[in-house]
Amino acid sequence: MIMKKLLPTSTAGSLPKPSWLAEPEKLWSPWKLEGDALAHGKHDALKLSLHEQQRAGIDIVSDGEQSRQHFVTTFIEHLDGVDFDKRETVKIRDRYDASVPTVVGAVSRQKPVFVEDARFLREQTDQPIKWALPGPMTMIDTLYDGHYKSREKLAWEFAKILNQEAKELEAAGVDIIQFDEPAFNVFFDEVNDWGMATLERAVEGLTCETAVHICYGYGIKANTDWKKTLGSEWRQYESIFPKLQQSSLDMISLECHNSHVPMELIELIRGKKIMVGAIDVASSSIETADEVANTLRQALQFVDAENLYPCTNCGMAPLPRDLALGKLKALSAGADIIRNELSP
Ligand SMILES: [Zn+2]
Repeated sequence: MIMKKLLPTSTAGSLPKPSWLAEPEKLWSPWKLEGDALAHGKHDALKLSLHEQQRAGIDIVSDGEQSRQHFVTTFIEHLDGVDFDKRETVKIRDRYDASVPTVVGAVSRQKPVFVEDARFLREQTDQPIKWALPGPMTMIDTLYDGHYKSREKLAWEFAKILNQEAKELEAAGVDIIQFDEPAFNVFFDEVNDWGMATLERAVEGLTCETAVHICYGYGIKANTDWKKTLGSEWRQYESIFPKLQQSSLDMISLECHNSHVPMELIELIRGKKIMVGAIDVASSSIETADEVANTLRQALQFVDAENLYPCTNCGMAPLPRDLALGKLKALSAGADIIRNELSP
């Protein structure tokens, strides 16, 4: 995919759903429709989300994850080997307790999960589209494993399944396939031992662009409380960037705006395309264009302009719709400022 426009904007993935589809401002929000009405409702919401992204001037668009309840569990729901009625409480991201489904047998994908939705999005637009999938390490971290009894083994199994799905998404016309790996920001030793290798397995043989999104999480309380314990300088990325730099992944999506990540860390991944998070998903105020521009300007010290992709810090599913839309417009306006500075 060749972007002619400098600084193409995109989002990390999820966007708020309309209130007729799911309860607003909630993670794992229950659907308000059933059966055929739900299937049609998801497609209508996807069209609406696409329209809002386009109106806000977003260059690389997505489905806004309108057909998923959650970025990890919805994918897993479609797989064999996981029992959603058998739940165990585990500590997710080493941070907060959650009741999660149990792996009870060999995991496998009987049929495509998101491929129909991706084809539907492809029919709606000629713009480049990005599709998000959970990464192998983040998947295993959102489950109780009663079968493989090995995080690494289960991650390799999921990587194989993700690769099947990714190849079909590519064939459906997706331009960028992104793997969400917030767990990379927590389990550094595992990332370097096998996490990065399982992600490489997930992207094996793909010819479209590939991305990995590594953030400090949605703006929910468990995450904002955790952030308070991280001190004044967040150097988590430093532990994994050398391995990422050597990887075959094309793009890396990061949390930058309002975070305490020292911007110079992205020097460690120079040469990669960097989706710089310039929108804070944990704040209820809309950034000004100048604030967005400031973050991008700082990033430009360490990333070449042709590799800079302005983005949001993370998904915006739990935010009020107006707020999310305002933030998308701010992202475009901020990117415009820098584009004008670069080629007046
Ligand atoms: Zn995120």
